[in-house]
Order: sequence, then structure tokens, then C-alpha cells
Amino acid sequence: MSCLRVKSAPGSASIQIDTRTVEVIIPRSGEEPLSRQAQTQRRRTGSPVRVYELIRRKRDKGTLGRGEIQELVAAYVKGDVPDYQMAAWLMAVYFRGMNAEETTSLTLAMMNSGRVFDLSGVSGPKIDKHSTGGVGDKVSLILAPLVAACDVNVPMVSGRSLGHTGGTLDKLEAIPGFSSSLKSEEFIANLGTIGLSIMGQSNEMCPADSKMYALRDVTATVDSIPLIAASIMSKKLAEGIDGLVLDVKAGSGAFMTRVPQARALSRIMMRIGAKMDKKVTAVITGMWHPLGETVGNSLEVIEAIEALKGNWRMDLEEVTMALAEEMLVLAGRAKSYAQARRLLLRALTQGRALAKFRQLVSAQGGNPRVVDDYELLPKARHVSSIKSDTTGYVQSIDALEVGLLATEMGAGRKTLGDKVDPSVGFVFRKKPGDRVEPDDTLAEVHAASASQADEMTARLGKTVSLSRTPPRDTGRVISRMTKT
Ligand code: URA
Repeated sequence: MSCLRVKSAPGSASIQIDTRTVEVIIPRSGEEPLSRQAQTQRRRTGSPVRVYELIRRKRDKGTLGRGEIQELVAAYVKGDVPDYQMAAWLMAVYFRGMNAEETTSLTLAMMNSGRVFDLSGVSGPKIDKHSTGGVGDKVSLILAPLVAACDVNVPMVSGRSLGHTGGTLDKLEAIPGFSSSLKSEEFIANLGTIGLSIMGQSNEMCPADSKMYALRDVTATVDSIPLIAASIMSKKLAEGIDGLVLDVKAGSGAFMTRVPQARALSRIMMRIGAKMDKKVTAVITGMWHPLGETVGNSLEVIEAIEALKGNWRMDLEEVTMALAEEMLVLAGRAKSYAQARRLLLRALTQGRALAKFRQLVSAQGGNPRVVDDYELLPKARHVSSIKSDTTGYVQSIDALEVGLLATEMGAGRKTLGDKVDPSVGFVFRKKPGDRVEPDDTLAEVHAASASQADEMTARLGKTVSLSRTPPRDTGRVISRMTKT
């Protein structure tokens, strides 16, 4: 008679039959059994992760367990999974998608690949805002000090411009001396002292996202809703926040060109937040036209400071206030949007929001005198104007094209290694819905050279369409989502 003894550990077991020991791989609960091919591959390569199996299963519309995703991501960061296998898995996800459970598992795995801030030493609510990116989006520069002035801590890990979209860090770094390369300890200390801190993603934060994003960028797998959701939420949750307000843009100048896509992305990010016990709400905003009047780093800083002084364009105010109201309600500082608005307007009119901006600039090494003297900011040498030759209304301004032109001028970057020119950009003197008369200035080009100014003036002119009648709707806030 044979004697059978089993010793098992997660993922594997050894079975002793009399004197012979046989290694078998056992699936974790909820996981599918390994195919024969995967078992062979695992035995042959000794790989701790059954990557082939995970690719095959996703390719065939299967689902992956939390442990499997965790193992895959950890092994990829360690270098045990080659780029070609991760690229194949990402492509399988691109086509087959992931359910909410899988997307949350991916988010967690990416978040835990690096440092997760512990902000428990900072008293009061910690709420951030994330925008999916757009053209002329300087909202963070206004909203962060405004919300902090209402006694809500705003820990913000932000991005740089890439492609046609701008980045908060490039805008702030147009201010002489301003640095967003903070150490984690400085980030947390500033948050404790002034209630506000803005830094770039360091190498220690979500390394899995940095590595996977670079791979997605060159394998046409960026525009996948679960991958975008996991990428964004992993970074935001690593900030140690209590809550998050998402500004999910829809339109030609956004990642999500259509509103239903923006809603789907919002829904999944909100579900991830809920699974992690974080309060997450979303505001869907239009990005068919650049936001506000300016596109370009120095120019946007000036527009943001003017907004903090109470002088702002209707569309910029609409988006900023909607997001700020959400933040105050999430933080428990206001019971309703109307109450939140009253608190925000008071912080603006009493100059507390502007004072907070000054504190932020000083705390991060910048010259706070820019608030009173815009000459301290980098300035373009050549400014040329685009004039109207007719009577009518501005119908549209093509956000995508404007963003691409700004990048071409040097206001943004095509690849992460490019250097930006903070001085160049555009000012839109007339926005969709505005009436124009012959010879009115429609827009200005702020350029580094006369030839650049000439070329860009001709090309920017084509992005602005005029019509005899006003456009039907120029509102920016499409909807607020507080429940999935
Ligand atoms: N922004 C991110 O941080 N990640 C994505 O995948 C897309 C946009």
C-alpha cells in the first residue's frame, strides 16, 4: 500500500508518494488551474510568475486573481518579467478589458510597488484633485491655494506637460526659483505648515506605473480605461489622501474625446476609491476649447494669479469653483455646494487664497514677488496678434490643435526629456460665445523669434472659427458624479 503525504504552500505543493516527492502547482482560490503549457514553462524557466498563463488567460477573456496581478507587477518591477511579455499582457488587457476587481488589484499592486505616504501626522482632512489633462488647464494653481485657504490640506503630486496637454509642474516652475523636486519629508512638512504642497512623482513613488506607462506609450496601449484608471489611482492613493476629486475631461483636447468614455473612466476610478475606503467624486468637464485665456507656462501663471485676485474668465471660474466645492464637501468643511461656494468666495475676496499661493511659492523656493510683478516671469520677445476681419461670434477654438501648436513652439514637450520654454504661448482675447467686430484682436502669439511668431500666427488663426450666430452652449461642467 502506498503512503501519500502533502505539504503545501501558497501556489505550490509537494506530494510525497512513498519515497518519491512530486512538485505540483496548485491554483490559489478563485484562480483558474494552470494549463499544461504554463506548467511546463514554469518548470523550465523557474519563473515565480506564470506570465505566459496570465497573458493567455487575459487574451481568452478570462479574469485574473488579486495574487496573480500582484505577482506579475512585482516581478515586472524587479526585472523578472521581460518587456515583451508585459507588453503582450497590456495588449490583452487593452482588447479584453478588466473588471472592477481586477482593476482595483492592479491599482493596489502598482501603488504598493513604491512608497505610500503616511500623512497621519498632518491634522485635518487631506483632499487632492486630479485632472485627466487638457489645454490651458491651470486650475490646480488656483484651486490648491484656494481650498487650502479654507482649511483643507491639499497634498498634490502632479505631472509635467506631455503631448498636447500641459502640466502643473511646468507652469509652477516658470516662477523663478520654484522647485517641485521635493523630498518626501519636505512634501509632508510643507503640508503640515501651510496645508499645501505640490511635487512631481519621485522614483520611489509607484515605480510600476513609471515603467508600465513608458511601455504603454510605445506599444499603443495608453488609451485603455482600466489601465488609465489604475495608473492614475495608484499614484493618487500613494499620496496618503482621504479623498479625491477627479476632473475628467471630455473633448478634442482630452484623453477621452467623448462624454460616455469620460463617465466610464470616472465610474471605475470612483469604484477603486470606494474599495479602498476613500471618498472619490468626479466632475466631467468639456475640453473642446482651451480653458481660460492663456496656453503656455508663464502666461498661465499670470492668469492663475489674476484669478486669485478675482479677475477670471467665466469658463475657468466655472470649472475651478465646481471642483473646489466638491473638495470642501468631501472634506466635511461644507454641507452643500452652496455653502462651499460661500466659503470659497470669502477666501478669495479676503485675499487669503492669494496669500496661500504666496506661501506655496516661498515654501518651494520661488520668488513670491511674482504675485505683484509679472515682469519677474520669463517673457517672450515677440508678440503678434490675430485680428478679426468680420462681425460675428467665436464659434470654436480647436483645443487639440492649439495644444499641438503650443508643444511645437516649446511650451510643452513631445517626449519627457524635452526642455520647455516657459515664455512662449498664446492668449485668446476672444473665447467661444464672444462677439467680435472687424479688427478686434482674437488671439496673440508670444514667440521666441520673429519667424516663429509669423508662422504660429498663421497656423493659430486656423484654429479659431467664427460664425454669424453665437454657439449653442459654452458651459464647461457637463456633470457631477458622486455615486457610481
Ligand atoms: N494619466 C496617467 O497618469 N496615466 C495614464 O495612463 C493616463 C493619463
